[in-house]
Amino acid sequence: MPRSSTSLRQQREALPIYPYRDELVTAIRNNNLLVVIGETGSGKTTQIPQYVLDDIPGLGRIGVTQPRRIAAITVAKRVSEEHGTPLGTTVGYTIRFDDRTTSSTRLKYMTDGVLLREATQDPRLSQYSVLVIDEAHERTLETDVLFGLLRRTLRLRPSDLRILVMSATLNVEKFSDFFGGCPIFSVPGRSYPVTIVHHQKAQLASLKSTYFGKAVETAMHVHTTEKEGDVLVFLTGQGEIERACREFREKAAALDYRRDVKYYDDGRGVKDVNVYPIYASLETFEQRAVFEEPEDGVRKIVFSTNIAQTSVTIPGIRYVIDSGFVKEKSFDPNTGMDALLVTEISQAAATQRAGRAGRTQPGKCYRLYTRSFFDSLAPETIPEIQRSSLLGTALSLKKMGIIDIPHFDFIDPPDAQLVDDALQQLYLLGAIDNRGLLTPLGDIMSRFPLSPFLSRALVASTRDFGCSDEVLTIASVMSVEEVFVSPSGKDEQRQRADEARREFADSTGDHLTLLNVYEGWRRAGGAEAERTWCRERYVSWRNLDMARNVRRQLEEVMEKAGLRVVRAPRVEVRERGGKKGSSFRTDGGGGSRKRTAVDPVPILKSFLTAYYVHLAKRHTNRSLFYHYSVVDHHSDNAGTGSGASRDSNSSMLALHISPQSALADDEASGRRRDDLDWVMYTHVTYTNRAIMRVVSKVLWEWVGEVGGLERARGVGKAALSGVKEGEGEGEGEGEEVDDDAIEAREFKLLE
Ligand code: ADP
Ligand code: MG
Repeated sequence: MPRSSTSLRQQREALPIYPYRDELVTAIRNNNLLVVIGETGSGKTTQIPQYVLDDIPGLGRIGVTQPRRIAAITVAKRVSEEHGTPLGTTVGYTIRFDDRTTSSTRLKYMTDGVLLREATQDPRLSQYSVLVIDEAHERTLETDVLFGLLRRTLRLRPSDLRILVMSATLNVEKFSDFFGGCPIFSVPGRSYPVTIVHHQKAQLASLKSTYFGKAVETAMHVHTTEKEGDVLVFLTGQGEIERACREFREKAAALDYRRDVKYYDDGRGVKDVNVYPIYASLETFEQRAVFEEPEDGVRKIVFSTNIAQTSVTIPGIRYVIDSGFVKEKSFDPNTGMDALLVTEISQAAATQRAGRAGRTQPGKCYRLYTRSFFDSLAPETIPEIQRSSLLGTALSLKKMGIIDIPHFDFIDPPDAQLVDDALQQLYLLGAIDNRGLLTPLGDIMSRFPLSPFLSRALVASTRDFGCSDEVLTIASVMSVEEVFVSPSGKDEQRQRADEARREFADSTGDHLTLLNVYEGWRRAGGAEAERTWCRERYVSWRNLDMARNVRRQLEEVMEKAGLRVVRAPRVEVRERGGKKGSSFRTDGGGGSRKRTAVDPVPILKSFLTAYYVHLAKRHTNRSLFYHYSVVDHHSDNAGTGSGASRDSNSSMLALHISPQSALADDEASGRRRDDLDWVMYTHVTYTNRAIMRVVSKVLWEWVGEVGGLERARGVGKAALSGVKEGEGEGEGEGEEVDDDAIEAREFKLLE
């Protein structure tokens, strides 16, 4: 029966949580702190906040956190629909750079990151009467920090704040213990048995390279041999999911249902299939169809990231295919690299995934790994706080006056090395001084809803280099999803997209390239023209529009902080074969003409002021770079093994320029970049090698100019955590480093 034929109200009342409505409300009334546990899909996220809203009059705002932006949006949409009010009125959401609430909003869904920022500004969180920390089992970095902060907030407001912690898994004693043994309300599950089938002969060592093929194959196996019921396949990331959809659709198109599909049943059974991708990008969630029941006889196959494990519930799932892998944040303090790595899941995650098959009837879970692989998995997922960079968190805590970060109330404390690393980074960015206290600069940086790196670059661009207008634009584009569209279709299309991308390429690298894209787009004039402009150039209108919105908001922050927005100086450049009337640069073709363009130097120096810790030097093997740690080479304590300095072996980490970078060699024209000695990169992704993303060319001497050497020298002397025995002497008394010893060629701006 199509879902639409049952009313929303009937759907709400059919949820496992509904019979406990009154009991729950009473428990919430009577307790300042309550932990609620219930199976995924039982109705915690969508129902409990509504119960509070409707049944406990006289309360102020209810805030509900979600670990993922996409969940905050989807849930708010659903709840406002159920509540019968337009989104953004009584029920709304706030995610970074997108606020859909008004002063009359009573129920606000938001990311945990948003609440954390709000706590930085107002530690009492006075706008809320009730705070719900949802999906607590996910243990995101932000949720974990919020736990510690909320304990403080509750001390400030013991009588008028209620805190509810909601979780899917069983490990809730931990939450209750953390909050002084508060009561636990358990919503009995209503789940059906799930048959688990392990793969018989999967090789442990090769699982990572084979699960993808097996996933598509198994999805097809389920489609052709199993009874009706939708299929949820857990893969790890966007690229992989798009590819799986493509391959599955191709195979499905070749099916002869009468012959190949066991439960075709003369057209009364399984007779067609719809394939959907789900990953944490907004676009996929706009296809509401994934939440709707397909027509009779049509099987829905959903390829998803971990997001469908507990955050969002897709109705109708009867078969689950579990790859056994997840893309997870992983930070290596030895190299300072924060990366998303494909990692084995935990046993708890595998159990959650399997459970998704048994929500409404008995189900079946195909694990693409063996029973012994399952046995070898860690029982629980390691909390994010123990495997991510704490840079942003440390800045927020410092801003709140929590100086002694190692002794903060962590539910599970992070490794000391992670804390040390974050403090060192903050020091290198100038956000804290050599006693670990927030500097005025750090205070300004903390006001931006950005990574401390980007906010540092912004401040430099306005104070030191007079180009904040351009840096603001670039930082905005860097804060949204990829603006270059990679068509998933034919090779030919992909080739055209590559060509279009090259048209924007700036010879200094990706920062200026992003500026070129944004400025070109802005000149298109009018919404319709903008869209056409984007379509023709394989650029995402939606993400650029988001960048425009981000830019506006960052500009407001700058204004409030008294930071001026100024345009960079222009310089005259010579360009080859430029097309008339267009700002495109094309290679080949003779002739050259002059035009004025923005001076890239101050812009690049602004970014380098922050990213000099992400410096890479070209290896003698020309296609290769290696991470160059300014601290290892220039700290007074370099090589002495003090807590603050890094193992110098790490500086030999090999890095490659992304093939999508403006600095990549151009295979088509054979043009190679022999002029690159030093580059700065924004982040690194790993596939089989470490790839630098958003990379630009810099000059070695700039590192000293932007204050990098001085800060690197100071780092060994600083007592950043406030617990070390440090004298905290003045900076800059270290030995002079002979900068000339390092080869640095003249920087040619543009040919
Ligand atoms: P929990 O938080 O306990 O996992 P939720 O409150 O998120 O449960 O979901 C309860 C039910 O509401 C789900 O089982 C699903 O059927 C339905 N639901 C949630 N979000 C949507 C949506 N966006 N569209 C349709 N149904 C939804
Ligand atoms: Mg939920």
